[in-house]
Amino acid sequence: MRFCPKDGGIMLPTKKDDKEVLRCKKCGYEEPLDRKAKKAYQIKENKTKSGKVLTTSVVSEREGRKREDDEWEQEREEYYKEVGLDLLRDELEGSEESDEE
Ligand SMILES: [Zn+2]
Repeated sequence: MRFCPKDGGIMLPTKKDDKEVLRCKKCGYEEPLDRKAKKAYQIKENKTKSGKVLTTSVVSEREGRKREDDEWEQEREEYYKEVGLDLLRDELEGSEESDEE
């Protein structure tokens, strides 16, 4: 993130003619956008975009599940039963071993 040398305002990439420049939000001071700065800003932009996509897909998934809630609930119960049995088995085996010693 770059800051304006005049007032310390945040410099944001802006399109000017066909070039991209960094412009201060407060006073409009402009600075040429070099490769390094551009890369840094692009990484931040990409992160925000992917975050938004993730949120949207999660919401739509939940909406879709509402209609088949029962089905989903059953699947989940069976899954937890399996996992729970495995965990229980491990615990029993572990305690048996320690009892013998
Ligand atoms: Zn400024």
